[in-house]
Amino acid sequence: MQRLTHEEILGWLQETRPAQLDQLFAQADQARHDNVGDAVHLRGLVEISNYCVRQCHYCGLRAARTTPRYRMNREEIVASAHKCVELGFGTLVIQAGEDFGIEAEWLAGVIRQIKAETPLAITLSLGERLLDELRLWREAGADRYLLRFETSDPELYTAIHPLRGATVSDRVELLREMRKMGYEIGSGVMAGIPGQTYEILARDIELFADLDLDMVGIGPFIAHPETPLGAPDVATAGEEQVPSSELMVLKAVALTRLVCPEANLPATTALATINTVDGREHGLESGANVFMPILTPSPYRQMYQIYPGKACVDEDATQCNHCLRGRIQRLNRYVGEGQGGRKSGRGEAYNGKETAAHANARQPLQGELAQEESSQPAEDALSLFVVLR
Ligand code: SAM
Ligand code: SF4
Repeated sequence: MQRLTHEEILGWLQETRPAQLDQLFAQADQARHDNVGDAVHLRGLVEISNYCVRQCHYCGLRAARTTPRYRMNREEIVASAHKCVELGFGTLVIQAGEDFGIEAEWLAGVIRQIKAETPLAITLSLGERLLDELRLWREAGADRYLLRFETSDPELYTAIHPLRGATVSDRVELLREMRKMGYEIGSGVMAGIPGQTYEILARDIELFADLDLDMVGIGPFIAHPETPLGAPDVATAGEEQVPSSELMVLKAVALTRLVCPEANLPATTALATINTVDGREHGLESGANVFMPILTPSPYRQMYQIYPGKACVDEDATQCNHCLRGRIQRLNRYVGEGQGGRKSGRGEAYNGKETAAHANARQPLQGELAQEESSQPAEDALSLFVVLR
């Protein structure tokens, strides 16, 4: 497949005609089917600490915020790993604020214990840690690392992601280093951060491809009123400002699938937060192939407030599991088995066979798409998208 040019990506991000957009979503869905199959992988997410030393202007966990803080102990984290196995998920994602109270040796011990007691893949998402720490965790058995670069634009990055003291903050370079260590690497951005232009988002998507990412997470920016970017008078990029809408996230996910066909792409919790009814389904139909159900036990899950109104905070892990499996089944997709990594997962997830039910499920959609030609405004595009599905 020929890679989309910068102009093509930019054009799609600015596209408003529903019929054209539905062709984009159909193409992305086909690329998803062809490259990673119909499996949807479930990654159990355990948020082990909400302490953070950083001051990211978008995030509710930023150090300056007065909010109750917690750090889970070893027994609680290992219990979450066993819950992950019990619920049939193949990966445990261990996430936290950038918390140096999570000591490197201690976490290495936790990783070793989980790897010894379970068949899980382990993904870490702990912010910008030292190379030696990242190496230690890799040697202890961690398989993957998620670190969103947040924006490829150096000026916007500096504006929204203040330095920690005198340290350098180069998330792209860290990702490259982690790949050399043998991690599968994941990154991503929020769509609609104040100051993000269509040009910038197009370059973000090109950078996903340049880095040949194994995983890419894209969700909407959701304003947190107690953060600088959540202020009512926050400066935006004016007419060039990318909206933090569901439609914009779906376009970005679809384009990412086209430029990174083999990557694992989640339908994010943030997407489910701005459309609690069927945001996740729309994600899966626009190129995504992963869900990340929250395993964090109460009362911690209520305290991990990156943004207000986060979906699934009031359900427990068992309820989330049941709900997500139902959503997957109703789309005629199935839950992936095993760890579902990019390298090992492709064979597991996709055996090249398509059932008649899968083929039939796609047919009417493509037929309808071909007939649809309209120039409705952008707001209508999503409702048409919803109707078609
Ligand atoms: N501390 C680690 C880090 O920054 O990589 C991991 C946890 S951090 C909360 C995970 C991601 O949450 C960030 O990379 C960011 O993209 C996303 N996030 C933070 N604030 C958000 C907001 N207001 N709306 C949507 N996503 C947000
Ligand atoms: Fe901390 Fe991550 Fe939030 Fe930044 S995005 S404040 S590093 S938890």
